[in-house]
Amino acid sequence: MKKNVLIFAYALVLYGCGAGKSLLSVESSPIVTSIDLVNVVDDKVQVGINPGAFTSATVIFRIPKTVPGTYSSDNYGKYVEDFEALDYKGNVLSTTKLDDNSWSITNAELLDRVQYWVNDTYDTENDVADAVFSPAGTNIAKGSNFMLNLHGFVGYFEGFKEVPYAIQIKKPADLVATTTLASDTNSKQELLWDAFIANRYFEVIDNPIMYAKPNRESFEINGITVTLSLFSPNNVYKASDLKEKMLAMMGAQKRFLGDVDSTKEYNILLYLSDINVPDAQGFGALEHHTSTVVVLPEAMDIGRLEQAMVDVVSHEFFHIVTPLSVHSKEVQYFDFNDPKMSAHLWMYEGTTEYFANLFQIQQGLISEEDFYERMLTKITNSKFYDDSMSFTVMSKNILNQPYEPNYANVYEKGALINMCLDIILREKSGGEKSMLWLMKELSKKYGTDVPFEDEALFDEIVSMTYPEVDAFFKDHVIGVTPIDYNLYFAKVGLATKEVEESTGYFFDGQVPFVDVDVKNDSAVFIRKNMELNSFFEDLNLKGGDIFKSINGQDINLETFRTIIGESFTWTPETVINVTIERDNEVISIEGPVGQPLKKVNRIVPLQGATEQTVKLRNAWLKN
Ligand SMILES: [Zn+2]
Repeated sequence: MKKNVLIFAYALVLYGCGAGKSLLSVESSPIVTSIDLVNVVDDKVQVGINPGAFTSATVIFRIPKTVPGTYSSDNYGKYVEDFEALDYKGNVLSTTKLDDNSWSITNAELLDRVQYWVNDTYDTENDVADAVFSPAGTNIAKGSNFMLNLHGFVGYFEGFKEVPYAIQIKKPADLVATTTLASDTNSKQELLWDAFIANRYFEVIDNPIMYAKPNRESFEINGITVTLSLFSPNNVYKASDLKEKMLAMMGAQKRFLGDVDSTKEYNILLYLSDINVPDAQGFGALEHHTSTVVVLPEAMDIGRLEQAMVDVVSHEFFHIVTPLSVHSKEVQYFDFNDPKMSAHLWMYEGTTEYFANLFQIQQGLISEEDFYERMLTKITNSKFYDDSMSFTVMSKNILNQPYEPNYANVYEKGALINMCLDIILREKSGGEKSMLWLMKELSKKYGTDVPFEDEALFDEIVSMTYPEVDAFFKDHVIGVTPIDYNLYFAKVGLATKEVEESTGYFFDGQVPFVDVDVKNDSAVFIRKNMELNSFFEDLNLKGGDIFKSINGQDINLETFRTIIGESFTWTPETVINVTIERDNEVISIEGPVGQPLKKVNRIVPLQGATEQTVKLRNAWLKN
């Protein structure tokens, strides 16, 4: 997952595809699921699920509480209404709701089918606390868009997750499905019905479907057919607008990964949300083995949309390495209603996010400076979370307090943990080995169907690498010691350093150093929550000071705008006369405005760095 900080006619004939009543046992017949996207009632669709015959007296039907990759409890059963279990004569069987997501059905040997209505998440995200993260959410917009994250629509019978599913979808004639779910070629092809099959429940939820009017592009990248399908509610964007960028980006990813086995087909389901109406608000994406659902605001300009797509889709695509390939038993045997979490978010999300940045510098999509800036931003952001929290303890308890609010640190410190490990591996191997090498080695041993033991992974990695890796895990991943990043930067001839850069007198880029107090006659004052530039500091002006006059001109919002305009003509020698109010005292200050500079941290080459460290840096960033 990647969160970008920056959802009738009642008597339906749901057997439309020829699926009649089945007296075959549940083990030997597919679970026939029908979803009706044509007869939408009150923003809800009806789902019917027809299993084979049960032999037990009671059976439990469940909708997932959580799904892989979200690391949150979302209770998709809350969006299910009017749940009914019917016998072969169409009579309603007695059911008991056990929790938000589970229904117990009695006289199950008489059960023919269950049916229920499903509401969507996108248009209620504003109204509910802890809304479902949109890329895992659902959308029902009659006649225009259906985002079928199928865990929101299709449930499973307890003990029968490993049986095949036949999914039949009645759909409006002008909408097309984009999905990597396999087509049911044995099913009669009808204009208003799509038929899919899945070998087990996991496959159902691993292959979301987006229905929309056709707006897609397909392209080939070294043996992978990539399809980008886009829904733009106000027709602002076409899939073709993003094709070139995606082609270049994913080509660079393939070159970066080299000989890693990957899928032959990859779908990008991009939902652009309208910020002016109740719509999806959780921007980012969720990974699947052969596709990703991405949600971003339609209001982004093309440049920002392209960059967001590069950052978000590259992250999701790298998930094919981990956890989609390299993962533990906790992930392999995922319990959708009582999940046991793995200790290794440092890898599932951290390695993925690190690679999503590293490939951009290695493949020349960004400059060295951009890469350093990204890592520095991650260092800064990581400090907003608990830097002394064990990453493994957090990971195993990510659904609970106090760990859950620290989740997003997997994209910050999680990536930095990988950066440090990468540097250690380069250092110890004379530039040869890297995190990518390690992940390739692990993916030779483990894969989609071969999980590792959660507790054994660290020892295994250490046995493949160096004692320094062991020490790093024990201190900074399992342990609670914050990382001194400069130690690792020094190994590659770099250091974080405070440097002075020029800025504006009253603005740092788009961000003003001053603010307006609307409650106090729109007084203009210097902001407190911001590091001031040298112009303010040299004149001894402080955060909270209220401007009374500048160069004899009384200051209000209007006259201050004029001063800002004049400031573009100032030279360092220009003398300014300022009267301010500080703690109810009026103070006059006069002096030259100088050249406005601000102090910023940068990662810069270390003075006198040895040839050895520079060689390692090149191996790290340019290999
Ligand atoms: Zn992710």
